[in-house]
Amino acid sequence: MPDRTRRPDADHDVHPGPSGAPPWSVADTEPAVCCLCGLPGDLVHRRPPFAVVRCPVCWLVFVSPRLTAQSLQRLYDEPAYFEGGVYGDRTRWSPAMVLQRTWARGRLAGLARLRPPPSTLLEVGSGYGLFLAAARDAGYRVRGVELSRTGARVARQELGLDVLGGQLADAPPEPADVICFWDTLEHVADPLAFLRQVRDRLTPGGVIALSVPYISSIPARALGARWWTLKPEQHIWHFTPRTLALVAARAGLLITSVVRSPVRAANAGRLDSLVAFGRAMPDRTGGGEPDA
Ligand SMILES: [Zn+2]
Repeated sequence: MPDRTRRPDADHDVHPGPSGAPPWSVADTEPAVCCLCGLPGDLVHRRPPFAVVRCPVCWLVFVSPRLTAQSLQRLYDEPAYFEGGVYGDRTRWSPAMVLQRTWARGRLAGLARLRPPPSTLLEVGSGYGLFLAAARDAGYRVRGVELSRTGARVARQELGLDVLGGQLADAPPEPADVICFWDTLEHVADPLAFLRQVRDRLTPGGVIALSVPYISSIPARALGARWWTLKPEQHIWHFTPRTLALVAARAGLLITSVVRSPVRAANAGRLDSLVAFGRAMPDRTGGGEPDA
C-alpha cells in the first residue's frame, strides 16, 4: 500500500516497492503513449520514478514512465498485494467482506436486468474469486482469469472456481455472454487493446460490466497528487466518464449506464470510483449499421 501521509513535494528518486522488494528505480520503468492517439502526455503530477500525464488531444490521463511488464508481475505476485484495502481481513463479517458482498449484490442486480442467468460470465482480474463465487450462486456459469498467481490459486483451492492464472489473452477463446472486469481496466498495459479483446469474446448481445476509479471524481480533484487512488505503480490509466466512453467506443463497445453514487450498492462507499455497464455495438461488417 502506498504511504498516504507522504506529501507530494516530499518525493524522492525512488518509491518503496512491495514489501521486502527493493524500491522501484528508473530501471524498472518504461515510457508510454496514449492508447488512443499514440502521443506522449503533458505532465500532471510528478511521482518519481513515475509521472502522471494527460494526452493533449483526448485528455486521457496515464502514467509515463510506468513500471515494465516484468516489474508489474513482481508486484502482483506479492501476497501482500491483496492484503489490506478492499480485501482486508477475509473473515465473514469484516467490514471489507461486507463491502465486497454489497458490491457483488448491487452489480449482479445490474447485470440481471441486462443479461439474467443462466448465462456464461467471464471475469477478468477475478482476485480471490469473491464476485465470481457470488455470480455462480446467482446462477451464472462462471470462469475467471487473474494475473496474480496467488489470487488465482486461492480462488481455485478455496472456492472451487475455474480461474486461470494469466491475462485475458491467455484465456480459452470461447465467448461469454457477460464479461466483467472490476478495478482492472486502470491496470492493463493498453486499455484499447484490452477492450477490443473483450469485444471479440462477447456473444451476440453480450454485455460488459466494470468498475474503475475516475480522475474527475471529487476526491481526485480535491487531493490532486495526494489522491489515495493515484498509486502510479499499479494504476496506469485514469479515466473520466467521457474518456471511458471514448476508449470503449473505439473498441466497439457502448457504455449504456454509469453508477457514480457511493450510496448505490454496486458502488457502496466508493467516492472516487464508478461502475459502468455496456454492450457490444452492432457489428458493421455483419449487416448492422452502415458506415458513416
Ligand atoms: Zn489521446
